[in-house]
Amino acid sequence: MDKPTDQSRMDKIVSLAKRRGFIFQSSEIYGGLNGFWDYGPLGVSLKRNLKDAWWHDMVAGHDELATPPGAPQPYEMAGLDCTIIMHPQVWKCSGHFDLFHDWMIDCRESKKRYRFDHLHGRWASHRGKKLFVVTDQSGDDALPHTVTRALKGFGVRASKVEEIEWLSGLESLATTVHAQTVTLADALGPDAGEPGTLTQPREFNLMFETRIGAVAGDDDDRAFLRPETAQGIFMNFKNVVDTSRVKVPFGIGQIGKSFRNEITPRNFTFRSREFEQMEIEFFCKPSESADWYRYWRDRRWRWYLSLGLTEGKLQLREHHPEELSHYSVGTADIEYAFPFLAPGEFGELEGIAHRGDFDLRSHMEGKLVRQDGQLVVEQGPDGKPRHRGSGKDLSYFDEISRERFVPHVIEPSAGADRAVLAFLCDAYHEDEVPDEDGKPRSRTVLKLHPRLAPLKVAVLPLVKKDGMPEIAIDLYRKLKVHMPAYYDEKGSVGRRYARQDEAGTPWCLTIDGRTLTDGTVTLRDRDSLTQDRVAVAEVVDMLRDRLR
Ligand code: ATP
Repeated sequence: MDKPTDQSRMDKIVSLAKRRGFIFQSSEIYGGLNGFWDYGPLGVSLKRNLKDAWWHDMVAGHDELATPPGAPQPYEMAGLDCTIIMHPQVWKCSGHFDLFHDWMIDCRESKKRYRFDHLHGRWASHRGKKLFVVTDQSGDDALPHTVTRALKGFGVRASKVEEIEWLSGLESLATTVHAQTVTLADALGPDAGEPGTLTQPREFNLMFETRIGAVAGDDDDRAFLRPETAQGIFMNFKNVVDTSRVKVPFGIGQIGKSFRNEITPRNFTFRSREFEQMEIEFFCKPSESADWYRYWRDRRWRWYLSLGLTEGKLQLREHHPEELSHYSVGTADIEYAFPFLAPGEFGELEGIAHRGDFDLRSHMEGKLVRQDGQLVVEQGPDGKPRHRGSGKDLSYFDEISRERFVPHVIEPSAGADRAVLAFLCDAYHEDEVPDEDGKPRSRTVLKLHPRLAPLKVAVLPLVKKDGMPEIAIDLYRKLKVHMPAYYDEKGSVGRRYARQDEAGTPWCLTIDGRTLTDGTVTLRDRDSLTQDRVAVAEVVDMLRDRLR
């Protein structure tokens, strides 16, 4: 199969991430664990800077007295940090317990596992033998893949490909199996040599299960690792309203770990089993919720641009009505053209969903389902609620309009790891710079926004003598009070610049012979490569200003 055109670029990014200590595979010395990733010394700072930028821009730095551009009115923001394990009833009422699963199918021969809804196939025949040839590829890759698979399945040489007759177009395996037009005995799996190796589809809940307490006992001890941080916010909606004087409209933000037992973790950190989310639940009056939905969608889009993500690689995609969750009035995804995707394809960074009153009502009344266009409590076979809500009143009394209502919710839900990956991919550049002798030298550089860069500045004495290290160390210590700074005196200055370029450090300060006579240093800019002379006495304030 042809790889997507930018796979080699992705391979280089993954290799840089490992080589420079951004991201390592978890438990690597034991062979690694699929879907789990660790952040190394540079990676942890990059990720923390990203989360801090989000927390500052969305929560802590929010000015509740001003009306931000595009917002219907001023609003308040509060923060929370909730537990990963919550009462199991949370997931029953939220719908995750019943609905948060995928169907999967195994191949007995290749030992591979596939999402049932990701498999497609078409009927082929060769000398009276018929096969349903299945592929796990999508888009333009799917049809050519069925051709290679059919050659293998029928044992035909590529030069004889025209002997194979195609009897149908590509169809979903799930649909054809349900309609009984295909049986798994006739299906040739995407990696199998002969038909009939695919198992019956099995349901697979994406929530990780655990037990509470020392003795693993009956079902009542079963608990789940949260698959999203949002539910902790709904659990505390009333606590925040009662204790912090916030008034609707207001938002609650939270950053934290989430866990999903993804069937096919892949594409580096993009689809992991343990990851971090940055979520806001924004509570507003039902009549104003459409305006707030548009505000958050556009605000979140601008946030990625403000941190330097290339606009041409970002896409804001409004979901079609048939794609929307049963409770949603509108949903948009902010997507990025990751290099591991085929040209024209985008991967989700963040979803902004208008969730109506679904969440708060579910936790009041019980798990909801849509019936005849209305959300109603789902009944069990005994006519009682299938999953009973808390019975607590989560409505809100608006003192100005004297109305009581269940607030509507707008949810901008972002993944910290996917955002880090997008910023890493976007920042990765290869170009040429003149070396010390003026000859062109190729370099790898991460053009990270200074707010995100793990190190802001490196201080480099040109040589290890003549008092240069002393001046450099003194400057390094002054800088370090205000920003992550790095001192490096090892190797040629060109090598030291190259190390900082790969780490994404925006500025380097070089202490040289002139420093000793006129008290200036060279300030080198990572992206423009300009080298300016700046007074040592002014450089700390200057860089602080730039970071602001
Ligand atoms: P996908 O369709 O890619 O599985 P999703 O629609 O299930 O994503 P949401 O439930 O909307 O994702 O979660 C909000 C955000 O959390 C996503 O936009 C993404 O950034 C992040 N996220 C979700 N699942 C994962 C994962 N397995 N690994 C890393 N980040 C994830």
